[in-house]
Amino acid sequence: MAVDVKHKLSSAALCTLTIAALCFAAHAENASAPIAEPREAKKAFGAIKVPPALPPQAIGRYDLGCVAGAQKIAMNGDGWQAMRLSRNRYWGHPALISYIETLARDVKRLDGLPGILVGDMAQPIGGPLLGGHASHQSGIDVDLWYNLMPARTLSAEDREKFAATNYVDQTTLTVDPARWTDAQTKLVKRAASYPEVSRIFVHPAIKKALCDSAGSDRVWLQKIRPWYKHDDHLHVRLSCPAGSNGCVSQPAIKADDGCGEELDAWFRKLRAPRPKPPKPPKPQPKPKPMLVTDLPGECQALLDLAEAEKPTASGAR
Ligand SMILES: [Zn+2]
Repeated sequence: MAVDVKHKLSSAALCTLTIAALCFAAHAENASAPIAEPREAKKAFGAIKVPPALPPQAIGRYDLGCVAGAQKIAMNGDGWQAMRLSRNRYWGHPALISYIETLARDVKRLDGLPGILVGDMAQPIGGPLLGGHASHQSGIDVDLWYNLMPARTLSAEDREKFAATNYVDQTTLTVDPARWTDAQTKLVKRAASYPEVSRIFVHPAIKKALCDSAGSDRVWLQKIRPWYKHDDHLHVRLSCPAGSNGCVSQPAIKADDGCGEELDAWFRKLRAPRPKPPKPPKPQPKPKPMLVTDLPGECQALLDLAEAEKPTASGAR
């Protein structure tokens, strides 16, 4: 089997300049194979440790997709340090790596901040994650901590154990003014300032603080989207990178600052009393897990290739 797969891959590698060609090759090889058992997507994609070398492509949706040719961000750079290294979620489309590098440099040089802490990006070939997010699948999402980078280089242990600061008082639904300072506002504003950024998700209380302090410069607030959680990190999502033809964009956002009725509706929702669960609680049907076959064909082919290339116990690829 190893020889067979190697042969298929080397011939596939020669002809596969695009992931679409890869898809064709992988599925042609499998045409006569017996139908496999359905596999849970997050387990299959989460098991891939290294991406195959391919041209970069963000594929599918941010919550139903994958990424080919992902690069790993350096653990330390000019104005950033990467966190939670054990998760192996520090991969992204090169456009995302370049965005983080630029942002880190700019917050240092233009805003006078010490730098940024980089949280989850994507897995080596993207796809559904083993825990924590529905999105981050196509290599164009990144979580950044609101805590700024400390002056010292963090140890591997610190990067696992440090807790991100929560900036929102969940009772009053306001930011804690002792923690949320001009530095955090500068970080979010700078993060939104690049044309490749599609959206940034923050807690509604943080959006409110940004709305209240923005003054007359308000266009950037369009990209700042209120969403659940996001009280200890902002989540940046890029638009589909040029050349990623299989990447699915989200609908355009409304052309207003989102500080009026939309934000009020969020607070009404968050303040509404929760209905008491019925007694005895109704048994809830288990949500159906996402299967490998639910993902775009290109992602299934990418998974096949990555699994075929997986390092063996003897260390050979
Ligand atoms: Zn996120």
